[in-house]
Amino acid sequence: MSKRIIESYKQKLAAEDGYVISRERGLRIALCYPNTHAIGMANLGLHTMYELFNSIPDVVCERVFLPDKAELIEYEKTGVPLMSLETQSRIRSFDVVAFSISFETDYLNMAKMLRLADIPVWAAERDEGHPLVIMGGAASFLNPEPIADFTDVIAVGEGEILAFQLVDAIVENDSKEEILLSLGKIGRGFYVPSLYDVIYNDNGTVFDYLPKQIGVPKRVGRALAAVNPKEGTLRRALKRGETELAEFLLSQETFCPSTAIWSPEAEMGDRLLVEISRGCSQGCRFCWAGYNYYPPRVVPAKDILDKAREWRSKTNKIGLVSTAVCDHPEISTILRELRAMDYRISVSSLRLDQISDELLDALVDSRDQQIAVAPETGSDRLRSVINKNLTNDEIVDICGAVFERGMLTIKLYMMVGLPTETDEDLDEMFVLVERIKDRMLEAGKKFGRAGKIIPSLNGFVPKPNTPLQWDAICGEKELKRRIKYVCKGLSRIPNVEVRYMSARIAHEQALYSSGDRTVSKAIDAAARFGGDLNRALRETGIDAAFHTSRDRSYDEFLPWSIVDSGLSFEFLKTEHEKALESLSSLPCPAVEKCTTCGVCPSTWLADAPESLIQIQPLKIRQALVAAL
Ligand code: SF4
Repeated sequence: MSKRIIESYKQKLAAEDGYVISRERGLRIALCYPNTHAIGMANLGLHTMYELFNSIPDVVCERVFLPDKAELIEYEKTGVPLMSLETQSRIRSFDVVAFSISFETDYLNMAKMLRLADIPVWAAERDEGHPLVIMGGAASFLNPEPIADFTDVIAVGEGEILAFQLVDAIVENDSKEEILLSLGKIGRGFYVPSLYDVIYNDNGTVFDYLPKQIGVPKRVGRALAAVNPKEGTLRRALKRGETELAEFLLSQETFCPSTAIWSPEAEMGDRLLVEISRGCSQGCRFCWAGYNYYPPRVVPAKDILDKAREWRSKTNKIGLVSTAVCDHPEISTILRELRAMDYRISVSSLRLDQISDELLDALVDSRDQQIAVAPETGSDRLRSVINKNLTNDEIVDICGAVFERGMLTIKLYMMVGLPTETDEDLDEMFVLVERIKDRMLEAGKKFGRAGKIIPSLNGFVPKPNTPLQWDAICGEKELKRRIKYVCKGLSRIPNVEVRYMSARIAHEQALYSSGDRTVSKAIDAAARFGGDLNRALRETGIDAAFHTSRDRSYDEFLPWSIVDSGLSFEFLKTEHEKALESLSSLPCPAVEKCTTCGVCPSTWLADAPESLIQIQPLKIRQALVAAL
């Protein structure tokens, strides 16, 4: 044991409130976040899983983080295996090691943590004496293949459902083999990579996945929290005065994901974070979060406000987490009540088309965050390609509304390297930013000061299960040229401060998000070489360009097809074809009877074929677990 590490962990705990320490319960789960404590504690997925696991009788869940710099030096110097935060127990001593992975870029940290814990990184090298290793979180179920060889199980979908099913399977089965087979046979929510042979074509593309056992499905369905009302259904019911239906939807017992541990020393640790809705209706064709959380669902205002009341004595800051804050049918009530409680409100992201006056007023009053919006590009044509249905004129007006309220600094998220992009499209970014800057200076006269426009440039990375999944990323050299070109052009404009992500990082992300199972070798090697992916690619012979830089045909079996997200091939293909013709599509209506994209008929409780129903309301699950 290292006194310094234990001391460092105890200091962190001393600043926190709400964590669980119990050495008495039966099943012990080490919940691992593949980044440091300061970053991990800002992740709502981690809080959610911590709360869910600890709510199950006879389960105790502790947190594990990537050690910070000083802790890492100590771990490496002493050779002490990685420990949990709460009780400083060795990770190897837990029954389950559960990683919550939101970003592909954390894959290297995941491999590093397994090594630090003295757990073999490759699933095939672990035996009955090792903990069951499970990986979940948005990145892992978007395309599980690059991490498939590291893990025993991948959670495909949302934790509110899967936490309980996982514990059931572990409790009901004796050996690891039996647990894996029982999870693998469910058909939805759990992917057990070792139960499949991957068959490759001669050209290196995937031919198919072959289940090794009878009863293991060809594809694994995504599980989602179906008890929350669909956003569109609730909005219509409220708008049309269908009181009975609205009351029924709002009375459902939903789980409200929110901060579980008060951790003021972590990023955003001084505020209550609450997820108010999940999924976004707009269907921006590049956005994995939109499509992979379809259909948009909401947490009723009453549950959000209950949480806010509960936490008010601890903090006056609240962060509303959602991809589309203003789409919440009860947003007016939420904002009004939170302001009445004297909360300072911030939001995780602002969609340009839905910024309302009341939200802007709440944000201005709070003075708690810099406003960030996402025009994505300066070209109206390119915005049709990505189905972001806004014009430059509208964007300038919306930014103007922000400036008029005295918030004179704005961050603009932009992408470079979008499909069909030309230098003329890039030139339009200069015009747009210049116009926004002019509006800022005009408004600034009223307040006697000037603000700043901060364009933040990212290379476009095609993501699995989106209509742009078949496209290649813009070549690294060309992407670098375009980023440089835009940076140079924008930095000539006064009051503009450009930030950018390198072309290299975009390509790394593309490899980790679109690779197949062979890419795991590069991840393992890069983790061992301190993050040096180039060296890792040389040593493993993995050709990154094969995975990232070729357009894929509609006939190709995509590596992530093992997961059935519910989105139909026809829907995605049509959206892709429309993208290439710069044609826009209507948003997802998020109503009960819609069948447009395929998600609802295949995943929605009401209409799902009986064999596919894996989803149960939380209260039923809790009752079942309590009865165990
Ligand atoms: S089927 Fe319709 S309501 Fe359901 S996610 Fe798809 S577009 Fe939205």
